[in-house]
Amino acid sequence: MALYVQKYGGTSVGSVERIEAVAEKVKGFRERGDDIVVVVSAMSGETNRLIGLANEIQEHPDKREMDVLVSTGEQVTIALLAMALKKRGVDARSYTGGQVRILTDSAHTKARIQDIETTRMRADLEAGRVVIVAGFQGVDDHGNITTLGRGGSDTTGVALAAALKADECQIYTDVDGVYTTDPRVVAGAQRLDKITFEEMLEMASLGSKVLQIRSVEFAGKYHVPLRVLSSFQDGPGTLITIEDDETVEKPIISGIAFNRDEAKLTVMGVPDIPGVASRILGPISRENIEVDMIVQNVSADQTTDFTFTVHRNDFERAQNILEQVVTELGARGCSGNSKIAKVSIVGVGMRSHAGVASKMFDALAAENINIQMISTSEIKVSVVIAEKYMELAVRALHTAFNLDKGETVCE
Ligand code: ASP
Ligand code: MG
Repeated sequence: MALYVQKYGGTSVGSVERIEAVAEKVKGFRERGDDIVVVVSAMSGETNRLIGLANEIQEHPDKREMDVLVSTGEQVTIALLAMALKKRGVDARSYTGGQVRILTDSAHTKARIQDIETTRMRADLEAGRVVIVAGFQGVDDHGNITTLGRGGSDTTGVALAAALKADECQIYTDVDGVYTTDPRVVAGAQRLDKITFEEMLEMASLGSKVLQIRSVEFAGKYHVPLRVLSSFQDGPGTLITIEDDETVEKPIISGIAFNRDEAKLTVMGVPDIPGVASRILGPISRENIEVDMIVQNVSADQTTDFTFTVHRNDFERAQNILEQVVTELGARGCSGNSKIAKVSIVGVGMRSHAGVASKMFDALAAENINIQMISTSEIKVSVVIAEKYMELAVRALHTAFNLDKGETVCE
């Protein structure tokens, strides 16, 4: 007998019929003898609808009240699911985050979980009940309702699994697992049986949006085995777990991630003296603009070109700041390009294999794709290229690293 925390996302509970289907699924697990804690999201579209209502009143409504508002979405779902289970003769009880006592800090709309009270849930499980908890919400020390940020139900699921020492946290969604890349871009993309927390974090931060990033961090930190699977069809899904010893069997690359949300800025002809990087990026960070990749080239005439990327939404602001910086530094000028994309290969197998980056560059060169910037970490190589070549690059890399359907990805 196992204890599973199962999280069902918005589309999985998007209608009364879907909620009934989830109840049917949970009933099946109970009949097999497993203990189940269910975490649910709001019905699909509901959180956006609520935010829309608030925005009709004010562009930036009070954050405390925003949390009171958006937390209602999940409260609807827990009650409906409890009813659907009871109708099927399955004893169940629903709880809001505050009722469980998912204690968070007071950072409204992006609160962090600090502690979870498990007594009540354990008593229910002991009594043979399914426990249903509203995702995405908690309560602060003063009894205020808080929410955990968009997509926060994933984090509720993982946090409950950690607190209850569950055997697995299962995230039910509308895709049947984590893929080698987005199947909409590469038809031959395949579901991965397994991926490590580290790889998943890289994939998520690079734009693959299956799970809220914070939930993956949480699961990695507390070693909660995490499984992504479909609530619409049966299947093993993808297990996100710690790295095991079978590295020999592992593919070098687990996935290809991409991101169109970046823009590139260059300051040209900067005097090559100490402190220049800080004088360029200082004003950028003081404006709360996050910088991703940074490249600096030294030229023969003692000046350098300094290039970095920011989120596309921050592009114009960053450009305005740089115009000021150019004058101050006596640089030759600045330029910007928002029609870029970042493509990354991710895999823990890189640690034990040489030549991964050059294989990537070869594959891009064979397609005549120019690389504008490169950055690497222990398990990732990212390149910036022209946006119009992004899909071509992803497909070429997917093939070059033997990820296409029909090739063996695992074992
Ligand atoms: N309902 C919330 C949202 O749409 C939380 C979640 O679904 O995870 O962001
Ligand atoms: Mg989600």
